Amino acid sequence: SFVVTGATGHLGRLVIDELLTRVPAGDIAAVVRDADKAADLAARGVELRVADYSRPETLKDAFHAGDRVLLISGSEVGKRVPQHAAVADAAKEAGVALLAYTGVLGGPDADFALADEHKATETHILGTGVPYTFLRNGWYTEVFSENLAPVLEHGAVVANAGDGRVASAARADYAAAAAAVLTGEGHENTAYELSGDVAWSFAEYAALVGELTGRDIAYNNVPGETRKGILVGAGLPAGFADILVDVDYAIERGLLARTSGDLSRLIGRPTTPLRDTLAAALAS
Ligand code: NDP
Repeated sequence: SFVVTGATGHLGRLVIDELLTRVPAGDIAAVVRDADKAADLAARGVELRVADYSRPETLKDAFHAGDRVLLISGSEVGKRVPQHAAVADAAKEAGVALLAYTGVLGGPDADFALADEHKATETHILGTGVPYTFLRNGWYTEVFSENLAPVLEHGAVVANAGDGRVASAARADYAAAAAAVLTGEGHENTAYELSGDVAWSFAEYAALVGELTGRDIAYNNVPGETRKGILVGAGLPAGFADILVDVDYAIERGLLARTSGDLSRLIGRPTTPLRDTLAAALAS
């Protein structure tokens, strides 16, 4: 089977949608921790396998010999190394044919805090000896388009990324790449650096929001400490604010600007432009 973990998440659902255009529903399995949340997937003929990354005993039946598995990285930052290791170990035990993993752009070169768990996961997967594909995802455009409320409220994009650029792509682009790898041939033991075709600056992003809304939207580049204060003031835990500030500094250093072309090559089309994702978000 073609197996997708995190199938009830945003990316996972898009991967299932893509798989359904390529293979029969009966060949697809969704690994979910909450079957109720996946009732719509079951209704479409997708097999459900209930398992939790945090409970290794539940992962025993999640995979079968010969499965081609996509491990979608978890969302519980700080817990993910043992979680992902448990999934990889279960995949090895089952004898899967391929384990694809959604890591971070740059892989071992990504020297920012949020990348640490991805790097440790890649190392663990290599240690299992299971045939792997590393889908090193750059930033989702939705990280920005789903967080436009403060930008519109204050008339400004506030960041500490300087003139750094982000080669973001839509979640649907990354999902199409994952489905292409699962259903395609020759992706074993390969790392792809997946990112958008165009790397944009925060000044360009602010100008685009301004153009699409007919308003003046500034880019306020602030020191990291100032940005942290704003994020904490908006209710974010201090530890997570630190991680986001650290990401912006990584953007300033150019770490999320890489445009290898791997993503558009895998999906056979250009990646979704920033403008399109922003326009769709503003229209909804
Ligand atoms: P979501 O939060 O929508 O999905 C995460 C999925 O992981 C959910 O299906 C969730 O299950 C599942 N999950 C989390 N913890 C566990 C667990 N302990 N056991 C089983 N399943 C678990 O995120 P997205 O789909 O938007 O993104 C996918 C992943 O990509 C994120 O989890 C994160 O690692 C990474 N990411 C990347 C970003 C980027 O810009 N490149 C931005 C944000 C995240 P449930 O549905 O039950 O909650």
